[in-house]
Amino acid sequence: MTPVLLAAATFLSTLIGGLVGLKNKDRLHRYLGFTAGVLLGVVAFELLPEIFSLLGEQHRTPEVAMIALVCGFLAFHIIEKSILIHHTNEAEYEVHKHPHVGIASAVTLIGHSFLDGIGIGLGFQASTTVGITVAIAVIAHDFSDGLNTVNLMLINKNKSRRAFMFLLADAVAPVFGALSTLLFTVSGGGLILYLGFFAGFLLYIGASEILPEAHSRHSSYRTIGLTVLGAAFMFAVSRFA
Ligand SMILES: [Zn+2]
Repeated sequence: MTPVLLAAATFLSTLIGGLVGLKNKDRLHRYLGFTAGVLLGVVAFELLPEIFSLLGEQHRTPEVAMIALVCGFLAFHIIEKSILIHHTNEAEYEVHKHPHVGIASAVTLIGHSFLDGIGIGLGFQASTTVGITVAIAVIAHDFSDGLNTVNLMLINKNKSRRAFMFLLADAVAPVFGALSTLLFTVSGGGLILYLGFFAGFLLYIGASEILPEAHSRHSSYRTIGLTVLGAAFMFAVSRFA
């Protein structure tokens, strides 16, 4: 049940991100800088070493796992740029509104959060350490998922009640994702593929979403320093966890 409990923590993270995040944007941006470093650190110090050790155990070569990583990165890039799901630059919204950024993007965001929960569950199927560090990565960035959902809510002002329902659905999706992994076991090659895919997914949201968002208002050495600190933090966690 540990993965489900940790996924429940993402429920709070998403809600807090959505409800409180908008009120203190400057502090939020520094926090997002830290999160980007955490995501990089989880991939480099936890997911990739786990993939390589599984490859060694099963006497496999790394190509397929690395193809899965590239697919994870590109899949989210293509989906996101196709429907502008995590687009949170409000200055741009003043210039041109995206009336289509509505149900389609909210549903994709919920699908992303469901995958976050599956990531935690399958992380635990790899090992407890991988599960815990993936949970840290998911809880940290779901704060920004919540913020993105609230931005959707603001864009569709006349449908704010429905958008709030989307925030709730987005917050609860990781719990269902983690629950679903109690119903099946992925092992061997399948686990390597999934970890590779999830590593690409985390690299993409860290580098292409969270980092640009952290610097979207203004860049500061403090934000840059926090990104370095986030990566160093995950290095320390991976050593002592
Ligand atoms: Zn997420």
